[in-house]
Amino acid sequence: MDDSVLDAIGSPLVRVDSPPGTTVAAKVESKNPGGSAKDRPAKAMVEAAEHEGLLEPGAHIVEPTSGNTGIGLAVVAAAKGYDLTVVMPASKSEERRNIMAAYGADLELVDGEMDSARERADELESQGMVQLRQFENPANARAHYETTAEEILEQIDGRSVDALVAAVGTGGTITGIGSRLREAFPEMEVVAVEPDTNAVLSTGEAGADDFEGMGPGFVSDVLDTDLLDTIETVSLDAAEDECRRLAEEEGILVGQSSGASNVVARRVADRLADDVSSGDTVDTDDPLVVTVFWDSGERYMSTGMFER
Ligand code: PMP
Repeated sequence: MDDSVLDAIGSPLVRVDSPPGTTVAAKVESKNPGGSAKDRPAKAMVEAAEHEGLLEPGAHIVEPTSGNTGIGLAVVAAAKGYDLTVVMPASKSEERRNIMAAYGADLELVDGEMDSARERADELESQGMVQLRQFENPANARAHYETTAEEILEQIDGRSVDALVAAVGTGGTITGIGSRLREAFPEMEVVAVEPDTNAVLSTGEAGADDFEGMGPGFVSDVLDTDLLDTIETVSLDAAEDECRRLAEEEGILVGQSSGASNVVARRVADRLADDVSSGDTVDTDDPLVVTVFWDSGERYMSTGMFER
């Protein structure tokens, strides 16, 4: 028995349909108590703030977030007894808002995008709330280094990982998992995924996109760009097609960033299979590509992406 819902954080690594001669495996993060990968950094950032004496009983947390971090923080704040205000762009899906409200968080919706949400959170911080700053907070990536990556190492049954493919929001996921797995597998390729119309890592220029949770439009402090070998872009249409395919053909219901990451994971697996058949690698196992599915497709129903 777990003492707290926060002790139940953890997720399975599931093999998904993979190109011949390869294995693509996804960390299905919707299995976390708050339904996304963001439970991990939410817990770690709150505990780091407690440790540093920044959060005392009765404190009020504030965070600008496009959704999943807000839900993760709402879970942690409820479980630990803090007040929470989440500032988010009004354009983000209504499921996310309803879920945060259900956990008792206060929501402030702002016009515009994440930069407007960040400005408003700064204002509330200056009035005495504690801001965790997921884009700058080292505990964000550390959570994935210490938990997500460690789970993957246990779940791969002694195989080695040839590539990690992950979308980038704050960069906490790819930085934390990538740096830990790179220690174990120094040759591993790290592939970042971003929206084709907002490809700041590939082009240096921000654009606009309708993905939720990835493509922040700037290079986050938390993202260790030195870890990245390759950056690939995906269109929202291709990502959503992949979400529908995963649901209908594999019984795995995920959101857009997961669909986008799986599109690229399959591309990378195809490429690694070609390398094997041309004798470029000496690895005797099939190439293993690990990716991340951040959240469930249930969080996207109101966007209409699963409607026929
Ligand atoms: N996908 C979704 C749905 C997310 O909520 C997030 C977190 N913003 C990401 C991908 C990217 O994760 P990270 O912030 O760790 O880069």
